Amino acid sequence: MAPPRPSAAEAYVKLVLAVGQHDADYVDAFYGPPEWRREAEAHPRPLREIRAAAEALIATVAAQPVGGDEIERLRQAYMQRQLQSMVARIDLLSGRRMSFDEESQALYDAVAPVYGAAHFQRILDRLETAVPGAGPLAERVEAFRQRFVIPRDRLDAVFAAAIDECRRRTAQHVALPAGESFVVEYVTGKSWSGYNWYQGGFHSLIQVNTDLPVFVDRAVDLACHEGYPGHHVYNALLEKHLVRDRGWPEFSVYPLFSPQSLIAEGTANFGIEVAFPGAERTAFERERLYPLAGLDGATAESYAEVRDLLQQLGYAGNEAARGFLDGTLSREDAEAWLVRYALMAPERAAQRVRFIEQYRGYVINYNLGQDLVREYIEKRGGTADRPQQRWQELAQLISSPRLPSGLR
Ligand SMILES: [Zn+2]
Repeated sequence: MAPPRPSAAEAYVKLVLAVGQHDADYVDAFYGPPEWRREAEAHPRPLREIRAAAEALIATVAAQPVGGDEIERLRQAYMQRQLQSMVARIDLLSGRRMSFDEESQALYDAVAPVYGAAHFQRILDRLETAVPGAGPLAERVEAFRQRFVIPRDRLDAVFAAAIDECRRRTAQHVALPAGESFVVEYVTGKSWSGYNWYQGGFHSLIQVNTDLPVFVDRAVDLACHEGYPGHHVYNALLEKHLVRDRGWPEFSVYPLFSPQSLIAEGTANFGIEVAFPGAERTAFERERLYPLAGLDGATAESYAEVRDLLQQLGYAGNEAARGFLDGTLSREDAEAWLVRYALMAPERAAQRVRFIEQYRGYVINYNLGQDLVREYIEKRGGTADRPQQRWQELAQLISSPRLPSGLR
């Protein structure tokens, strides 16, 4: 009698873990059977062998009959597309060159629109008015922002308050798994500013990078994005609904360079405005976080105006990445572009280019992801004037395996 054949889902998880032996950033989370990871570590497989197995598995999954339920169809399409992105990541690791757009299509199932200098200049012109004075705009904005830095010894209190509020707001609308929890750690020497490491069992480790000064708006950003209703909730809901309730093991692994990341980053960013509609964010920051940070709440409105304009410059980061990765911008040029069009301080621009070097086209997942998620949720009735519906659509999206191309 032959042993039972491993399911396609199990084979998929093992292939992700196998790629992880060649690419330290690839496995963002894994909480399936620990012996699967030990097996991947003990018997590393060559990339070309993993690639061939992934191609074969795509064909196997495509040939499987699928039930009539939408979620069953999503599951099948999702696993095929995740595997295709794995093949593309293996090709990149093996030295294949792709353009920025080819890579983002292959890995994230989406291509970011191109914006030229004129697009960003219009937003910069508005910032010229919002932050008047002499000298280059980037320096003025940086000097203005320096007044809103959270002192290092107050960081933890400010973040704790922000996380409590984000969790409170999320729990009013989303059924959080019982016992979900997280810990926050402060780290240095990273190319990112925050990271959620999902541990399984509804538990997360949230790391905050303190290499550079942390501005007061990062508290709500980070608490929503990494925590509630962002990555922590996203991973916990996938574990609850797909891994545990449905018994679908493929969701116990999260390959970072895959379409899953556009959904993860897009919902984490859009989740900020879902949790704090309209003026609620600034009101909360002014009344609760500014005092904890030792900052003057009377300045919260003017900072929020600048913050919103700076956020509209987000796509400038994509253009820096596009130029740097396509070879039309040198490192210095890319940093200078970020200083000029994203108004980053030079050391922040340098950190961002290191991020681009490490994570490449991943940068599109934040802004394009947010825009695609917003469009999708609004199209389904979750518009700004219907906050309940917004929450419902968001909760459903982060509990199901939908692909970026399926958001259109
Ligand atoms: Zn994120």
